[in-house]
Amino acid sequence: MATPQAEAVIDLDAFRANLSALAACAPGAALMTVVKADAYGHGMIPMARAARDAGSSWLGVATIDEALRLRAAGDTGNLLCWLASPGADFAAAVGAGVEVTASSAEQLTEILAAPVEVRPRIQLKVDTGLSRNGALGDKWSELVAAAATAQRAAGAEITGVWSHFACADEPDHPANDAQEAVFDEAVAEAHAAGLESVLRHLSNSAATLARPSAHYDLVRVGIAAYGIRPDPGMTYSTVLTPAMTLRGRLASVKRVKAGTSVSYGHTWTAERDTTLGLVPMGYAEGIAVSASNRAEVTVGGERARVAGRICMDQFVVDLGDRTAERGDGVTVFGPGTSGEPTAEDWAIASGTIAYEVVTRLGGRVARTYRGNT
Ligand SMILES: *Cc1c(COP(=O)(O)O)cnc(C)c1O
Repeated sequence: MATPQAEAVIDLDAFRANLSALAACAPGAALMTVVKADAYGHGMIPMARAARDAGSSWLGVATIDEALRLRAAGDTGNLLCWLASPGADFAAAVGAGVEVTASSAEQLTEILAAPVEVRPRIQLKVDTGLSRNGALGDKWSELVAAAATAQRAAGAEITGVWSHFACADEPDHPANDAQEAVFDEAVAEAHAAGLESVLRHLSNSAATLARPSAHYDLVRVGIAAYGIRPDPGMTYSTVLTPAMTLRGRLASVKRVKAGTSVSYGHTWTAERDTTLGLVPMGYAEGIAVSASNRAEVTVGGERARVAGRICMDQFVVDLGDRTAERGDGVTVFGPGTSGEPTAEDWAIASGTIAYEVVTRLGGRVARTYRGNT
């Protein structure tokens, strides 16, 4: 195959090392690696395999469709999904041995009605303060009562009780203590109803790194597994290495005169004679237009700033007076160990979070994998 114009190189060794480090943060808990959204843009199937190799006893995804794709690829381990609209194919999920989440008594009824021979394995989601999915207050009591009834009638096996933090990336935020307290009450209610053997889980990456009291029986790690800090302002001792490097090669290089304006809208003008390099990727690949004139890349190990507006297929960088040639390598972001920007740097330059920078990568980006596959 010809060299791709835009390539995301994924370092599986770095990913596995991150998972080991995260497992060491929560020694008493099982590890669930979250591989939803195509493993945050890293490629779901290879990352799932690498996560299993690294000892991840659970995988987590948002949708049934994602879970079924893992099964189709041969994954047979513990697997939980948690986001389903009415009419979702619970029969397919249950039939494939996927654990599904009930966020309300209505959703539990829908799961129990799925036409399937095997007994569904169901986890219950409580809303402890994120106000997103999950049963809240009286609705939690209703869900627990219905789930206990179903389990007694041998119509279901209730395997877990879980929730999700709103502010775990701000360890001192009072919402964290409050959510944990609500979670403890919700678990006590499930126990009292006869659901004693449930797995309890509440922690995302940030809580895994910074909040041991919230580790319970299992931790769900997403962004940190890919080597990205949940919040660049957070400090902790765990070493994480970004697994993804986005790179390409200059498609053209040209010398221009002072006063030359660049790209749509002419939002950038050369202050002096300079050299421009053309990077063959754009917002179709997930490079944010909002990083125009702000973000940097490296060419030949040296930083160069985006000049002018990022386009659909391409953007221009200002190379100054350095010698560069068509075909020279460009690193858009990577682990930062060779002077290149990181996904966090691109997040800051484009006014978003690093989660979005890696997850939205797409279009014509080819993914290749390094390390033991
Ligand atoms: C995405 C997600 C996670 C992982 O969150 P990170 O901040 O990436 O670690 C964990 N649990 C649930 C329910 C999620 O939706």
